[in-house]
Amino acid sequence: TKIGIDAGGTLTKIAYWDEKMELHLLSFLSSNFQAVKDWIDSNHSLASICLTGGRAEQLKKYLISQKDIPYIVEFDATMAGVKHQLKQQNIHCEKAIIANIGTGTSIHLMNENSHSRLGGTGIGGGTFIGLGQVLTGLSSYEELISLSKIGNRSSIDILVSDIYESNKLPINGSLTASNFGGVALKTAEKRSEADYLSGIQGIIGEVVASLCIQAADAYHVNSIIYIGSTLENNNLLKEIIRSYTQLKDKEPIFLGKNGYSGAIGALLES
Ligand code: ATP
Ligand code: MG
Repeated sequence: TKIGIDAGGTLTKIAYWDEKMELHLLSFLSSNFQAVKDWIDSNHSLASICLTGGRAEQLKKYLISQKDIPYIVEFDATMAGVKHQLKQQNIHCEKAIIANIGTGTSIHLMNENSHSRLGGTGIGGGTFIGLGQVLTGLSSYEELISLSKIGNRSSIDILVSDIYESNKLPINGSLTASNFGGVALKTAEKRSEADYLSGIQGIIGEVVASLCIQAADAYHVNSIIYIGSTLENNNLLKEIIRSYTQLKDKEPIFLGKNGYSGAIGALLES
């Protein structure tokens, strides 16, 4: 069997087929390469691996193989994985903006079989964990996610309609005028840790979606594919991104295996 490994800033994702050609996916913290090594040692030979991702070289050194482990460029792998998943989900899409919301966020243009990097932002999944930890003291991803889901952003953010009130609105009143601006301006309201966390999700979703929407306008593209493990078990973030993207008349696309496009691509290209 073959294995694709995407060693990212935060998570190392693995994709492989079993004897029945069924796809399996799993992930480890990139801070624990020993666990990755143990898994490979007990399940697979180094010969069958193809690596990708920013920490691929670090992982390769850690595995101390005599043989050279094949490596492919991160975005080539990601593109291959995205195309594979689009096919699997029966989505016809030749041209799209792709946003990979990992530790940080990288934004690309997919145009049939070519692709180019358009830019990115440091606002990403790392921001959720980092700012979330500062505001709540929690460091577990699962705890942060589940707490954020019961939060409410209305006391955290300022909406356009909060400012304009009865004045005639120049733009949609439900748009955020200021993320976290409510903390300073809505002084009478009470806020919980859950509210802060949902506010952080709002920053990530709205910053990423608005960059993608602008890129889509600039390159005359209608679809935006959002990937990355930051979307994993994170319906709140998906909903923020979905509604904002649709509001701006673009089509948001999510893939079933959010964070695994790179690993699946490395598996396919190996
Ligand atoms: P990059 O591509 O920027 O190098 P990466 O590939 O490690 O980073 P992803 O794996 O796509 O990035 O996403 C990492 C994010 O996924 C984290 O910042 C966090 O928000 C989220 N995440 C999902 N599951 C977990 C988990 N079990 N532990 C920690 N973070 C998680
Ligand atoms: Mg990544």
